[in-house]
Amino acid sequence: MINTVLGPISEDDLGVTLMHEHIVVNIVGADNLERTYSIKDVEEYVLPYLFEAQKKGCQTIVEATPLGLGRDLDVLVQCSTKSGINIVTCTGAWDGMDVRGKSVPAVIREMTIDQIADVWTKEFEEGIDDTAIKPGFIKLALGDEGEIFPLQEKLLRAAVRTSNRTGLVIQCHIFDSSSLPSAIEIIKEENLPYDRFIWVHADGQMDMDKILEFGKKGIWIEFDCIGAAEDFSRYPSAIKKLLEENLITQLLFGQDSGSYWIKEEEEEWPMRPYARFFKEFVPFCEKEGIDIELINKVITENSKRALSIISPVANE
Ligand SMILES: [Zn+2]
Repeated sequence: MINTVLGPISEDDLGVTLMHEHIVVNIVGADNLERTYSIKDVEEYVLPYLFEAQKKGCQTIVEATPLGLGRDLDVLVQCSTKSGINIVTCTGAWDGMDVRGKSVPAVIREMTIDQIADVWTKEFEEGIDDTAIKPGFIKLALGDEGEIFPLQEKLLRAAVRTSNRTGLVIQCHIFDSSSLPSAIEIIKEENLPYDRFIWVHADGQMDMDKILEFGKKGIWIEFDCIGAAEDFSRYPSAIKKLLEENLITQLLFGQDSGSYWIKEEEEEWPMRPYARFFKEFVPFCEKEGIDIELINKVITENSKRALSIISPVANE
């Protein structure tokens, strides 16, 4: 069973699944979050792109925007209902780039690890806020300044404890690969099975040494900078290497595409179309000698395995 914004569905109904996309993102800061747009505005902007992706075969979008970064369930419900695409939402918190806590609500920042884990676990068990909508994964972002700050460590430990209680997988954004070893050290201390951890933006720096070293421990490797990539030249050799090292079953694809983007100042943020993966990335890989069946397996079977809720290991 997988939680979508329209309710739980069978794992077999996920189909072609992009692992990291956005519908609406609001980066004004968690404590200033107000809906300054109408749901209709977002729909009109985003729906044509969702339909385009759907026509290309996309069945499920994993929407990687947690509370504090603009998670908007009303928007997600409308977009899923109207497009027919499954949308999976998340619990968790985002502290990427150099925002240093700005996108984490103050009330969460001040909690202890276990209090945060209680809040996130409750979203999974009872639903988010007063809805019956449950998260399908835990989203985090940390380490982009080359170290893991105390708040980020607290959030990571809370995410691990939530995962160990619920079986939800953790999607952890880490652009700076030098921060990965400390993150893995923390999840080890907290007894998280490696296959409950997805390294989001593993292709940000395409640090093959770390991808192979930590892939061999069992973590998921997510190539999801595809939406913003100027070209795809770094991908074919990396995919071939994963194949050679028997790590292809741990690869995931997403684009970090979308979205309706709200910032403090008016700034140009062009839509990254959801269909780019199918229209440009897949043909490029095929031309470079990657078997299309392999790509299909990654976006169906691997995505399904990553999102499957694995029976919690009771270690508390
Ligand atoms: Zn993202």
